[in-house]
Amino acid sequence: MGRKAKAESSELANRSVEEPLFYQVVGQKAACFYLRRAIENQRVAHAYLFTGQAGIGKSAIALDFAAALLCEKFDSDSGHAPCRTCVQCQLTARLQHPDLHIVAPIPGKAAVRRMEEARKASGSENAEEKPVSATTQAEDYAEVPITEIVDKKLLEAIAEKAQDPYVPVLLHFPVLLLRSLSILIEQIRILIKQTYRMPFQARRKVFILFHADRMNINTQNAFLKVLEEPPPHTHFLLACEGEGTLLPTIRSRCQPITLPPLLETDIEEALQKRKPELGESVPLIARLAGGNFWQAMELARIDWKALQALAVGYLAECARLDPSELEKFYEKLLSEEFGGYRIALGTLQLFIDDVAILKAERQIGKDMHLILSHQGCRDRAEKLLNIFQAADPERALQALQTACDSLERGYTPNSVLTALSFRLHHALGPKQDTKSTAKHSETAQRKGKVRNNDITS
Ligand SMILES: [Zn+2]
Repeated sequence: MGRKAKAESSELANRSVEEPLFYQVVGQKAACFYLRRAIENQRVAHAYLFTGQAGIGKSAIALDFAAALLCEKFDSDSGHAPCRTCVQCQLTARLQHPDLHIVAPIPGKAAVRRMEEARKASGSENAEEKPVSATTQAEDYAEVPITEIVDKKLLEAIAEKAQDPYVPVLLHFPVLLLRSLSILIEQIRILIKQTYRMPFQARRKVFILFHADRMNINTQNAFLKVLEEPPPHTHFLLACEGEGTLLPTIRSRCQPITLPPLLETDIEEALQKRKPELGESVPLIARLAGGNFWQAMELARIDWKALQALAVGYLAECARLDPSELEKFYEKLLSEEFGGYRIALGTLQLFIDDVAILKAERQIGKDMHLILSHQGCRDRAEKLLNIFQAADPERALQALQTACDSLERGYTPNSVLTALSFRLHHALGPKQDTKSTAKHSETAQRKGKVRNNDITS
């Protein structure tokens, strides 16, 4: 790495952290700044451990950092790596650089054996009796050994990661296999051999371990040997959601980079750039994404106008509390088309927040110029407030939280939503219609869908 003039260094420190080093990264300015400084000061550690919840950019930062380490400009002009134009940069961008090694969890031998058995079973006459783990998406590869399919899936996952580092690397494996995926000791043995080979094209080798916490103790001990005495020009970038299962000896040999959930403003800014067509839905998506950019990109696929209309229709129906009409909403509110119950309940929650804002404005008699979550739906929120004159938003929000907890615990969705409708009816406070309430209660109980304590508590 070449020496730099002091003035140049300070100019670099003042430069926006997003460009050109961490151009893929959303937010995470503190971590980006720290790593930029490490490059500028020629103090790049041989191992980093990136931790934090899913979708916050651990892979994006690790991949951009790897690009800088492999770029031709890194040793000649540290301030301008990665240049994004040299051969090394182009290979890294496709995640095809021979000195960039990616290690990710795969199914273990036992899981592969189960998959082989499942495939045999699926080919037999009793296809219906095949184990559930047969959903390997392996139909396209009739006679291909499972291990080859796994390799292919991993390559597909890495290729997708090259397109968008926020796509989860495990997405290509069937959900049923997710728990059994781990970094195997065989993968670490291969990694160790690779570390002792000279770099092919760049001046150093970079090893990225996705889900590094998915190593058992033996595998970690094998990895520890190379981490303790790494060959020169070798860098390890470990990424995982929780470091709890990593040995203290591994953690202590890595520079820790703990990433917080993304700020809503960071997600909004990134969504506006990537998906300008989302328009007024951007702040709503950013709020519901929970600091997870991958989640935000998934939410961007939802038809928000339709979901907002559904949510308002449901809340209005809660005022009337007609069981047969309410039931028509339940299936849609729970559907994957609208992102599942968490998103539906979150959407309702933000509508109630908006109603609370409008209610406060009416009480003080002036516009507080607060930004509603459902921008563009102010008239709808006004109508809701007209229906629910005596709204108690706090109580309504509690009801939504209770419903979410009950669904998490696996209660029957219809019974949870029936109880929720009751609670919202009372919390949002339309004129009490005891006749209707009693009718609904009787009907629901006759159907055995609602437990007494669900309604009354
Ligand atoms: Zn370059």
